[in-house]
Amino acid sequence: MADREIICIGCPMGCTLNVTVRDQQVARVRGNVCSRGAQYAKDEVLNPKRMVTSLIAVQGREEPLSVRTEKPIPKNLIFDCLREIRKAPVTLPVAIGDVIVKNVLDTQVNIIATRDLA
Ligand code: SF4
Repeated sequence: MADREIICIGCPMGCTLNVTVRDQQVARVRGNVCSRGAQYAKDEVLNPKRMVTSLIAVQGREEPLSVRTEKPIPKNLIFDCLREIRKAPVTLPVAIGDVIVKNVLDTQVNIIATRDLA
């Protein structure tokens, strides 16, 4: 049995959550003001995810294209995701929200443009 302390990022209150883990399961969450905190603690301990943001160099342009994942992806895939983003071909023009990499690493999450680039 182990206790972990994490900060909930579900809202600006930033509650400090104390999570008890037993047999690789979340046995108890304390410190959460609402149920979202309990869910966040479980996700963070058992399957942490993160949004990924990056830049892609565009041939013939000085300014890169900024991109991000549409949703958080498993934390252990971040570096592989960045490699996929680096390899992605970009065809101009690009509009904000355009899919640059579809279903990156079979996560069911797309990489999308976060700006227009004519
Ligand atoms: S536990 Fe609820 S109130 Fe506290 S930071 Fe998380 S979402 Fe906000």
